[in-house]
Amino acid sequence: MSEFSAVWTPPGGAFWAGSWRPPAVPLEVRDPENGTVVGTVSDCSAADVDVAVRGVALSVIEGEAWPLWQRREALARAAALLGERSDHFASLISREGCKPVREAGREAKRAVETVRLSAEQAHCLEGSTLPFGDTPRSGGRVGWYTREPVGVIGAITPYNDPLNLVAHKLGPALIGGNGVVLKPAEQTPLTALAFVELLLEAGVPAGRLAVLPGRGATVGAALVSHPLVDMVSFTGGYATGDAVARTAGAKKTLMELGGNGAVIVLPDADVERAAQAVVDGAFGAAGQNCLSVQRVYAAPEVADLLLDLVVAGAERLVVGSKSDPVTDIGPLVDEAAAERVEAWVSQAVEAGATVRAGGKRDGTFHWPTVLTDVPAGSRVLTEEVFGPVVSIQPFGSVDAAVAEVNGSDYGLQAGVFTRDIDSALDVAHRLRVGAVMINDTGDFRIDAMPFGGSKHSGVGREGVPFAVEAMTEPKIIAIHRAG
Ligand code: NAD
Repeated sequence: MSEFSAVWTPPGGAFWAGSWRPPAVPLEVRDPENGTVVGTVSDCSAADVDVAVRGVALSVIEGEAWPLWQRREALARAAALLGERSDHFASLISREGCKPVREAGREAKRAVETVRLSAEQAHCLEGSTLPFGDTPRSGGRVGWYTREPVGVIGAITPYNDPLNLVAHKLGPALIGGNGVVLKPAEQTPLTALAFVELLLEAGVPAGRLAVLPGRGATVGAALVSHPLVDMVSFTGGYATGDAVARTAGAKKTLMELGGNGAVIVLPDADVERAAQAVVDGAFGAAGQNCLSVQRVYAAPEVADLLLDLVVAGAERLVVGSKSDPVTDIGPLVDEAAAERVEAWVSQAVEAGATVRAGGKRDGTFHWPTVLTDVPAGSRVLTEEVFGPVVSIQPFGSVDAAVAEVNGSDYGLQAGVFTRDIDSALDVAHRLRVGAVMINDTGDFRIDAMPFGGSKHSGVGREGVPFAVEAMTEPKIIAIHRAG
């Protein structure tokens, strides 16, 4: 395939209260590669959110029962349909988003897994009897608890994984018996609309689902503050997450936020393997990935070789059109994002950093960039770049490398490369992050594992089984026998 198939037209600009809605106020979706319009959806309002939330709440509280077996069957059917249509979804993800079509294909396949795992969680929604006999105060009582839906979930997603991150919210919410109102990223609503259409076709009751494209400040804020939204599941940047948490107040929240992924390479590491993993982890999706590898701390014995290999790997990557199957690196989400990345690289260079590869921008494209000699405090080290930039530096000691990793405001995932299990476990235990990957970078995830981070990287854990747990709550029923 060298060109995208025809632009897909969604059945409506938004969906709520059981119907597709034509765009009252249109929101154009543009291809970040060249600015062409690839679709038009609704730019929904706060009033639309109110109607949609009320509809979903009514369906959850007073609507027809949706038993667990039907939820399981609907999601299993959705996984099968998604598998059959993965080329269509790959094309949508790539067209409105930033991923080259090959990489978008991998996301579409992963989303099948996420939905399949969600269906399988039906078998884990279990409770337990309670030990009322353990206290003299409870004589004559028996009881148990079950896991019940939280109610209405407000789901807010970012642009960088337009399908799989939506699946990570809708799959667990639906199998848990909730209703969901989704606000997808304004840049990538088409994939979300197509996924909702597929879920409805698979048998998810129309009243349980709503999707409202639009702006964060209107649709997002109205959703978070709505009194009938019982829980907010948010994925996005730290600053937005912080604002969402303030608006949500005492509401239940699950927050998957940013990162500035670090890797430690010890002197006995397989350097070639580490270098390839750094190239993959730093430049996949042009660095627009919360798990992106941004900081590499290497033992002085291997730092030069590692640098040479990462530079060679970065220079081999093909920057180009997303529709071309040979392309490795597509555009950033918009020109402002590419200019910001360029500015952060320039600031580091002005402060003394050296560009070893890349360092070039053209429109929304930023070339895979490798930096060395980056002074402490540079934004490319302290903040989340969310672009294809990695810094490599030798460490003075393992303790110093651990301190550098832990010195960040973020703590999502990290990697350590070594052949020595004691060193690996020692470093792993000392890192303040949500996950440590040994002989992988932090850019590794399976969709069933608990996923999330410490500090500014998030609150709580996603990952299908863990999201299902967060989106359900124990409810106790106790019986006091007569006599
Ligand atoms: P963003 O924070 O700008 O936007 C995320 C979503 O929040 C969008 O749908 C946006 O419209 C909405 N939003 C904006 N303002 C809002 C408000 N006031 N109230 C409610 N919603 C609002 O993020 P982005 O630029 O789309 O995505 C990139 C960020 O997402 C990065 O920081 C990245 O690390 C993070 N991310 C995290 C994970 C994870 O699982 N930890 C995964 C992917 C992306």
